[in-house]
Amino acid sequence: MKIAMLARNPDLYSHKRLVEAAEQRGHEIQIINTLRCYMNITSRRPEVHYNGQKLTGFDAVIPRIGSSITFYGLAVLRQFEMMGVYPLNESVAIGRSRDKLRSMQLLARDGVGLPVTAFARDPKVTEEVLQIAGDAPVVIKLLEGTQGIGVVLADTKRSAKSVVEAFRGANVDILVQEFIKEAGGSDIRAFVIGGKVIASMKRTGAEGDFRSNLHRGGTAAAVKITPQERATAVKAAKSLGLNVCGVDMLRAKDGPVVMEVNSSPGLEGMENATGLDVAGKIIEHLERTYKPGKTRTKGRG
Ligand code: ADP
Ligand code: MG
Repeated sequence: MKIAMLARNPDLYSHKRLVEAAEQRGHEIQIINTLRCYMNITSRRPEVHYNGQKLTGFDAVIPRIGSSITFYGLAVLRQFEMMGVYPLNESVAIGRSRDKLRSMQLLARDGVGLPVTAFARDPKVTEEVLQIAGDAPVVIKLLEGTQGIGVVLADTKRSAKSVVEAFRGANVDILVQEFIKEAGGSDIRAFVIGGKVIASMKRTGAEGDFRSNLHRGGTAAAVKITPQERATAVKAAKSLGLNVCGVDMLRAKDGPVVMEVNSSPGLEGMENATGLDVAGKIIEHLERTYKPGKTRTKGRG
């Protein structure tokens, strides 16, 4: 295969590993700086240009689009799809996963377990929104936050109200969510490839932090997940239409609840915690599934 990888930083662990895994399997892989691509949107002849040249001959594209450039990155990926290049994850599916509200709505429709979550715009209904989320403590999060930034735990109703008002004053959209206390500052990440969980780890937050993000100083260890957790992760991936993703779940008292689904999951934490060759499994999956022009969107919305 000739593979394009849309990424900005070739030195990131995940990107280096994907290049290594592709080359080891005899494929040609080129890292393409997403922001330096430009597009010719002409009827019947969609083109992507890069460094003064038209990109041609690619069989598959691996999108590793950073959350800060989602809009432009998805436009570039769509253009590859229009050219008939097979994407590891489709642009539509990535778009769903990047918006926490949209993905939760889709997951809820498909019956995936979720923390009780409320969303509203009108400041007059703050009381009711907090009530839906079960009053304090609640977790308040930015709709498009990542790496734990913009996720706040409000211990009391009073602090919850001020946090909601502060975010609203800054004109950003937020979710208010039931705090899953019994998770004890840990979450489970299940790595799904092609409808199967191929690796999973438990992440635990740094001392005193309820957020388990590795970027916030959390630590990770391999974990054996339950059949119910496995089924939930697979269902969440399917619901959003993602071939490859990291499904983050909390162990709540009635079973797993999904917090978010990451469409460009990092490989470093998972490979180190489990010793598995996750990059290799991703390339293997591409080998099995790629077909020129096969970019049908799964699922609705
Ligand atoms: P981000 O996209 O910034 O990673 P998340 O929604 O994944 O945001 O939240 C970050 C971390 O905060 C999670 O990994 C988890 O440890 C903790 N967390 C988030 N929501 C809840 C919740 N409702 N109850 C308990 N802990 C939560
Ligand atoms: Mg997260």
